[in-house]
Amino acid sequence: MKTLEQIATELQGYDPQAMSAADVLAFLSRLAVPVQDVVELPLFEAFGRVLADDVISPFDVPPHDNSAMDGYAFDGRQLAANAALELEVVGTALAGKAWQGSVLPGQCVKIMTGAIMPPGLDTVVPQEFTKLQPGRESAENARASIPPGLLSAGDNRRLRGEDLIRGKPALRKGELLTPARLGLAASLGLETLKTWRPLRVAYFSTGDEILSLGEAPREGAVYDSNRYTVFGMLSRLGCQVIDMGVVRDDPALLEATFSRAAAQADAVITSGGVSVGEADFTKAMMKKLGDVAFWRIAMRPGRPMAVGRILPAKSALSPDSTGQDGDQQHGNPHGAILFGLPGNPVAVMVTFLAFVRPALLQMMGANAAAPPLLRARSTEAIRKKPGRTEYQRGWVSTAPDGSLQVRTTGNQGSGVLSSMAEANGLIMLHHGQGSVAVGDEVDVMMFEGVL
Ligand code: AMP
Ligand code: MG
Repeated sequence: MKTLEQIATELQGYDPQAMSAADVLAFLSRLAVPVQDVVELPLFEAFGRVLADDVISPFDVPPHDNSAMDGYAFDGRQLAANAALELEVVGTALAGKAWQGSVLPGQCVKIMTGAIMPPGLDTVVPQEFTKLQPGRESAENARASIPPGLLSAGDNRRLRGEDLIRGKPALRKGELLTPARLGLAASLGLETLKTWRPLRVAYFSTGDEILSLGEAPREGAVYDSNRYTVFGMLSRLGCQVIDMGVVRDDPALLEATFSRAAAQADAVITSGGVSVGEADFTKAMMKKLGDVAFWRIAMRPGRPMAVGRILPAKSALSPDSTGQDGDQQHGNPHGAILFGLPGNPVAVMVTFLAFVRPALLQMMGANAAAPPLLRARSTEAIRKKPGRTEYQRGWVSTAPDGSLQVRTTGNQGSGVLSSMAEANGLIMLHHGQGSVAVGDEVDVMMFEGVL
């Protein structure tokens, strides 16, 4: 585990007062330490978790050559280029009930999708391409006629092991258990999977003007929305959330809350209190608790941010903890990574998506790459100065010609949550990029599956 100072010396030209989005990601990827504990879980519970080990296929999938169609199975060597093939139907192979018996040249077996290919047969003619004579479909000894030029040997047969090969990894350590991967694990007959334990993430909002739901409105005060957006984004990631409420701008209260949070959680996310006017006060208090850096990031929205590692106060660990090993269940003697996000509601969401989410995925043991950006044509001009990364709330849709287009969703103020609620993605205007003209292509980070 590296200190902030060690990381700073590793990064070329590190300047906390002028961080680019790329600098922030590089720094956080060095700060985030993956969890180490493995939990073996039944499949339904493993959904959304991260694999702690490769999953090795215990058998070939499919385990036998089988038919990809309903039709007639035969030996493909009998196909001739310009003559119909006439075959006698000698039996039926059903899915789950193999046909027993030998098949001679000139014969075929009626076969259903998924049924095991009878020995020696390698080709299936789909039922709809076959003429049956004299039309007694189900009866044996009917004759099937296959027109010439339609098939090649091996057609419509699925090969044993074409999906997965016994002894080879079917899934890799670090993969998130998506619906497809969960289904794949089940297809291997596995009842449990080894996963990394989920992250515990504590969060709270700060500010004297922030009201909790249920409190009476008062002049100058706003209801806390950040705890709800943060809760939603953490839940989407499969984190165990610890909601610590709203904390007033009071040093003693803040300090106590930070210590309690760090004692229980792998990561602590706060909002508010890192902007210029408030930084000194928070800075002094956070410095007491651990190792914290305050950044100014060349981005919009979301310029100020604090990061670091908060150490739990000894008293916050279990009462009989010696301070050496902590308490297994609650204690986190190494401290928690801190993400001190700005207070403005959209800035919270954007900094979470851009920086916190990738860092948390790394801590979860996931080797998830950043989701691919989508290219869409901007239907409007967007003003932008090179030298900072801007995230504009956008709505991506399909244009009449089938291409993708994007428009902004209105007021882009960093506190305007309605334009965020209306958006389905963030238009990402990169650090070096300038203004966008109508019809220019832009990158979009889609929310699908994330927000
Ligand atoms: P701060 O970063 O604390 O200076 O806050 C910046 C702006 O965001 C102020 O207008 C705050 O009222 C607002 N804000 C801070 N925290 C929250 C919150 N939890 N919910 C809604 N608005 C907030
Ligand atoms: Mg504040």
